[in-house]
Amino acid sequence: MPLASNVTTLTCFDCGTQTDPHHLATVCSSCGMPLRVDLELGTKSPAEVIDKSIQSMWRYGAALPIRPADAFTLVEGWTPLIEVANNVWVKDESRNPTGSFKSRGMSMAVSAAVALGAGRLVAPSAGNAAGALAAYGAAAGVPVVVAMPADTPRAFIDECNHYGAKVHLVDGTISDAGRFLAENQHPTDFDISTLKEPYRVEGKKTMGYELYEQFDGLLPDVVVYPTGGGTGLVGMWKAWNEMQAMGWIGSERPRLVSVQTAGCAPVVKAFEAGDKYTETWPDPVTSAFGLRVPGPIGGFICLEALRETNGTAVAVTETDMKTHTSALAAATGIDICPEGGAVWAAYLQLQQNSWLTPDDRVVLFNTGTGLKYR
Ligand SMILES: *Cc1c(COP(=O)(O)O)cnc(C)c1O
Repeated sequence: MPLASNVTTLTCFDCGTQTDPHHLATVCSSCGMPLRVDLELGTKSPAEVIDKSIQSMWRYGAALPIRPADAFTLVEGWTPLIEVANNVWVKDESRNPTGSFKSRGMSMAVSAAVALGAGRLVAPSAGNAAGALAAYGAAAGVPVVVAMPADTPRAFIDECNHYGAKVHLVDGTISDAGRFLAENQHPTDFDISTLKEPYRVEGKKTMGYELYEQFDGLLPDVVVYPTGGGTGLVGMWKAWNEMQAMGWIGSERPRLVSVQTAGCAPVVKAFEAGDKYTETWPDPVTSAFGLRVPGPIGGFICLEALRETNGTAVAVTETDMKTHTSALAAATGIDICPEGGAVWAAYLQLQQNSWLTPDDRVVLFNTGTGLKYR
């Protein structure tokens, strides 16, 4: 069960060092930054790439590094786009198998890790990533160990146990959970943390392909995205670059907007300061667990994507996030998570200060279900 033949190299997102993709890889061996999967896609038309008979993210198999027939899948992705106001759509990721878009990344990353010989899969997680890893580990028949902050809500922990994973609860944040796993490492462990291996981005990039297809070959003008580790932002940006290389689109891009909360906003801070890299946020506090990532290793890639697309970064307060989570759920009937509420609050801010115009076609990401946060 090897990688697809379109995979050529792994290239460091920062220093450009290249490495052979046919072994289990984590980060760049010379600078420690994330690796990108480079694919030889040629000039294929959308009709040659998209297999419309597949009702999941695997419909883009020809542009993915794992063949659909070799994937461990629970039918993830190909989520609905729901119009909630004139020119405003919610991309509803709560419909994924494990209740969040982490399913996309984990389906791909677990498939790749197992293809390349991983023995046991481990990850620190603030919530949804752990549940998704546990589920896809179960689908693949591979043991999973996760470490989570001890104050993670019960539902996230129960979910991991439900799928048979070993769960460690650690005092502190996701960074402390990561440290715990590093200190208790087993020789066959493979760390599947955000951007510390190259394939979760490949799963999440399918959101970029889906927006193209769902907007009939035109991309939206603006995409508002709740940013934690940044996998989805980086993935969509990569997808659009691939689509341009294949000849589907020109150089136009949706303006990307990163949304964080005031209690943990390393990307917003670095964006506003004009810095190349994010700095670790000293005391991260937010109930949006997907956004409680104080030191995203791929922060600099997010910043590049925001700047190249003429996008921006917005921090919302915890109170605003909570109010807007309930408001959007009650107004639409969509199962909005706090991260989705933060996106709605940011959207209203950008509308108020005229960064958005009424003609902009805007996609808001609701990245998961709201039902686990209690
Ligand atoms: C993980 C997560 C995020 C952040 O996703 P990244 O792509 O890593 O930035 C946002 N929302 C939810 C619900 C999440 O689980």
